[in-house]
Amino acid sequence: MKKYLPPVVMLAVFETIAVTLWLTKDNIFYLFNFSYIGCSIALGMFLLIGKRKNARRIVQLLVGLYMLVYLGLICRENMQIEGFWYYLFTGVFEAATIHYAVAKIFGPLLFGRGWCGYACWTAMLLDFLPYKTPSGPRRKLGWIRYVSFAASLAFVAALFLARVGNIERIMFLAFIVGNALYYAVGIALAYAFKDNRAFCKYVCPVAVFLKPMSYFALIRIRCDKSRCVSCGKCKRVCPMDVDVTDNSRKRANGTECILCMECVKNCPKKAL
Ligand code: SF4
Ligand code: SF4
Ligand code: SF4
Repeated sequence: MKKYLPPVVMLAVFETIAVTLWLTKDNIFYLFNFSYIGCSIALGMFLLIGKRKNARRIVQLLVGLYMLVYLGLICRENMQIEGFWYYLFTGVFEAATIHYAVAKIFGPLLFGRGWCGYACWTAMLLDFLPYKTPSGPRRKLGWIRYVSFAASLAFVAALFLARVGNIERIMFLAFIVGNALYYAVGIALAYAFKDNRAFCKYVCPVAVFLKPMSYFALIRIRCDKSRCVSCGKCKRVCPMDVDVTDNSRKRANGTECILCMECVKNCPKKAL
């Protein structure tokens, strides 16, 4: 039964967030929202433990589509980084600020970049592309994410400084245009670099939050050195080029691990 503890803990964490926000903000939406996400993630973890092949993809679709279609398009909440800046500037702890706090700023201290492996609606689509593992070495293009991070901040700051009217409508349009741009650039880079996750590695501004926080992640893949035979299979199947055989927090690309479990599934010695 011990192996089922992680999904139970994850569900408990999300239920705690759901009930706390429901009661403190007097809004039952939070109870529904975080319960749904928590149940989806826990279901995925149960399926993973049961070695179901498409467990991760099921969670990606359950959470990703919910956030993109329901929260983004139907409820018109900009859940992208621009939406986070927008709510931050207005001083409102709602929607995107709560989402960022839970999934991308404080949550990674517990579950690292689980968001990137199981919930992100951009990666949900990119993971359907044919280049599941990178075909070449990593490029030194990670600086681009800081440029896109600064651009997103500058865009929202400019709207506020210029006192543009009907900012809510602009943020909704920005959500649609921003997502279209992410998908277009993500797909183009995946084919250009033969790497589905090239967008995540080089361009995505959210990684500016995710990387430093996930450095301290409680949940991370560890290697049992007594079993490892240094066959290198784990590195070959890793979509994010992580050196998972190194247990230190400074391991190569350690803050890029999306907890996809491909290394664990493929290790011939069950060392991970
Ligand atoms: S790096 Fe960005 S695009 Fe990639 S999965 Fe994470 S949040 Fe999504
Ligand atoms: S796949 Fe397993 S045995 Fe091979 S190097 Fe990785 S951890 Fe070691
Ligand atoms: S293959 Fe392993 S090390 Fe690489 S991202 Fe997935 S879980 Fe992390």
